[in-house]
Amino acid sequence: MKIVHVASELFPYAKTGGLADAAASLAGMLANSGHEVLVFMPGYRTALEHRDAAGAERRFRLKIEMGNQFLSGDVRVFSPRKNLTVHLICREEFFDRSAPYGNGERDYEDNADRFIFFCKGVVETLRLADVEADVVHAHDWQAALLPLLLRETERRQGVTLAMKTVFTIHNIAFQGVFPRATFARTNLPEELNSMDGLEYYEQVNFMKGGILFADRVTTVSPRYAQEIQTPEFGCGLDGVVQTREEDIVGLLNGVDTNIWNPASDELLPMRYSAGNMSGKQACRAELLKRVGLEVNFGGPVIGMVCRLTEQKGIDLLLANQEFFLTKDCRLIVLGSGERRYEDALRALVARAPKKIALCAKLDEAMSHLIEAGGDFFAMPSLFEPCGLNQMYSQQYGTVPIVSRVGGLVDTVIDADEFPASGTGLMCEPNAASFRDALNRALALFADKPRYAAVQQRAMAHDFSWKTAAAGYETLYRESL
Ligand code: ADP
Repeated sequence: MKIVHVASELFPYAKTGGLADAAASLAGMLANSGHEVLVFMPGYRTALEHRDAAGAERRFRLKIEMGNQFLSGDVRVFSPRKNLTVHLICREEFFDRSAPYGNGERDYEDNADRFIFFCKGVVETLRLADVEADVVHAHDWQAALLPLLLRETERRQGVTLAMKTVFTIHNIAFQGVFPRATFARTNLPEELNSMDGLEYYEQVNFMKGGILFADRVTTVSPRYAQEIQTPEFGCGLDGVVQTREEDIVGLLNGVDTNIWNPASDELLPMRYSAGNMSGKQACRAELLKRVGLEVNFGGPVIGMVCRLTEQKGIDLLLANQEFFLTKDCRLIVLGSGERRYEDALRALVARAPKKIALCAKLDEAMSHLIEAGGDFFAMPSLFEPCGLNQMYSQQYGTVPIVSRVGGLVDTVIDADEFPASGTGLMCEPNAASFRDALNRALALFADKPRYAAVQQRAMAHDFSWKTAAAGYETLYRESL
C-alpha cells in the first residue's frame, strides 16, 4: 500500500510527547513491512537542523491560498530508511522557531494559520506529486483538517488524492480551538462553518473536523476509545465522537524496542535482562548516586517521568507528601512543564532532601536511568490516552503504580487483585486511592519472592510495535 502519515511531531526530528514516538514507530514498522510510506511534518528548526535532513532536496514550491492571500513555502524531502520518505512543509515565518507550539506557558498566536498552512501544504504536495495514496492517515488536531481539505480539493479539481482517510486521536484534551474568524483562512465552503462542520460554541474546532470527516477514526487504546464517548473524558467532544461510534477503534501504541530494551540500552551504565537482573542493581545505585541520594539505601525507590501538568496526577503526588516524608522509601521525579508544579515539588524536596529528588528538565538519558534504576514507577494520571512509560517500566522490571484510566487499564494488571497474573498496582485517580496503592507497593517490596514474580511477568509481556502495526494494517485493508 501507499500510505501517507501526517503528524506535527516525528521522533527524532521534533518531539514534545508520545505522538512523536508513536508516529515514528508506526511509520517505521509499515516501511519495514514493505509498504511505501510518506510522512509529512512541518519544517521545524529542529527537523531542518537534524543530520538526516542535511541533504534534503527542495522538491516543490508551494503557493497556498489562505483566505484572500497566497502564502509561499516549499517542500523538502529526504529518506532516512528504505520505503520511507519524510516531507517537510517549510515556511520560515511559521516553523523556524525554538519550539513547536509556543513559548513556555503561552501558545503562539498564529497557530491556526500555521497548521492550516501545514495541512494545505500537504494536500498541495500530494496533488503536485500525483501521489494517489491508498490511505492518508492524519494525527491529532494539527493535522485534523486534512481529511476535509483533501476531499474539498478533490471535488474542486476533479482529482483523486487518496482512497481513504484515517484520523487518530492521541489526546482529545488538545483540540485546536480558535476564533470563528479563523474559518475564512481554510477557504472551505461556508456551509461547513456550522454545527455540522467545524463550528464549536461559536469557535472553530480543528479536531472536530478530523473526527467528523475522516473515513475511519482511531485512538491509542481500547479503553480510551470508550472513555472519550463520555462527558467525563470527552473534553466537550464526546457527543461528536459518539456520532462515529461505529467507525472508531482503539489500537494500543507499542514500545520501540530498538530504543527501550534493558538488554541493549546504551544509555544505561549496565545492561540486564529477565534472566540476569544484576545490572538492574547497578542502574539503581547509579541513579541514587546521580541524584545525590544515599547509594546503600535498601528500601524501595519510586520513580516518575512526565510532563509536569495536571493530566499526569502531580496533584495526587503532592497530596501524599506525608507518605513520602514519613515512609521508608525514596522518590525521584524527572519532569518539566508548569512552573507551579515545579515550585511545589522543589518545596517538597526541601523538606526531605535525603529522601526525595527532582530533576526539573527534559533529559532522555535520565528517563532511561529512572526506568531502569527504580523499583516502582508512579503514574497516577487523571486521564491517559495510552501512556508509554508504564510499558517501558514493565520492560525494565520496574513495577508500575498507575491509575485505572485509559491505556493504563489496557496495559497493567493489578497484582493484589490478580496474584497469579499481576504486573503492577492500580488505583483510582484520587489521592486516597493512590496512597493505598503506595502502601501496597511497600508491602509488595517487602515480600521479595512475590515482588520478583511480578517483575518477571511484567518483563515477559510483549509490548512491541508488531501487534500495533498489524492492527493498523488490518484497519487500512478493511477500509479500502
Ligand atoms: P504524553 O505523550 O502524554 O506526554 P506518554 O507517556 O505517552 O505521555 O509519553 C511521554 C514520553 O515523553 C515518554 O517517552 C517519556 O519518557 C518522555 N518524557 C516525558 N517527560 C520527560 C522528561 N522530563 N525527560 C525526558 N523524557 C520525558
